[in-house]
Amino acid sequence: MRLQFLGSGDAFGSGGRFNTCFHLERSQQGNVLIDCGASSMVAIRKWGVDPNSISTVLVSHLHGDHFGGLPFFLLDAQLVSRRTAPLVLAGPPGFRERLMVVMEAMFAGSTKVERKFALEIRELELHERVEFDGLAVTPYLMKHYSGAPSYALRIETEDKVLTYSGDTEWVEELIPAGRDADLFICEAYFFDKVMKYHIDYTTLSRHLPEIGAKRTIVTHMSAELLGRQGEIALEAAHDGMVVDF
Ligand SMILES: [Zn+2]
Repeated sequence: MRLQFLGSGDAFGSGGRFNTCFHLERSQQGNVLIDCGASSMVAIRKWGVDPNSISTVLVSHLHGDHFGGLPFFLLDAQLVSRRTAPLVLAGPPGFRERLMVVMEAMFAGSTKVERKFALEIRELELHERVEFDGLAVTPYLMKHYSGAPSYALRIETEDKVLTYSGDTEWVEELIPAGRDADLFICEAYFFDKVMKYHIDYTTLSRHLPEIGAKRTIVTHMSAELLGRQGEIALEAAHDGMVVDF
């Protein structure tokens, strides 16, 4: 399976990187977007991704750099890409209401328009493994304030397991979330500074053997960690990076 980091940045554009957005290409069915941060429509164009090839967008948590691109994505689907295929959006509890608020704030009237495609908005319950669109998704609870539960997502599709941490400080829940995953994408914010709501590279490295993922890639790095990439022993994402797993 192939994944491309369309955006690997933090909320602040550190290193000139786009907000979080990963594109998972599947051979048997539509592609999956994992998070859709505010800058994601630009990133989608930059890396030449066809928005109509995406059948599901999964959202880890309700921060603008992780879901704020959806109003643009939905407007593009309607006005530019002229989408007709159904689209599923899935996120934590509270996702539907928050998305409507953001859409109306950014493009007044955009929640009320008639669309030529079916839009399904799903709210994922903690620890509940749900199947849709050829995916099985299980959310785990992270420690990251967003006014709604912030999730790590364990995603099973086409015989592979991909876990994405979302944003979080170290929590034991990351162990079952990422256990034996084929690919574990985890945020790492600072090199070794321990802070609330984000994990540092050093703490993450210490816990990786407990998780046992086959491959780990760090993302969402601060300017400080980007400047210390030479000291990192793990793979680090960059915008445009393609991973086969
Ligand atoms: Zn966040």
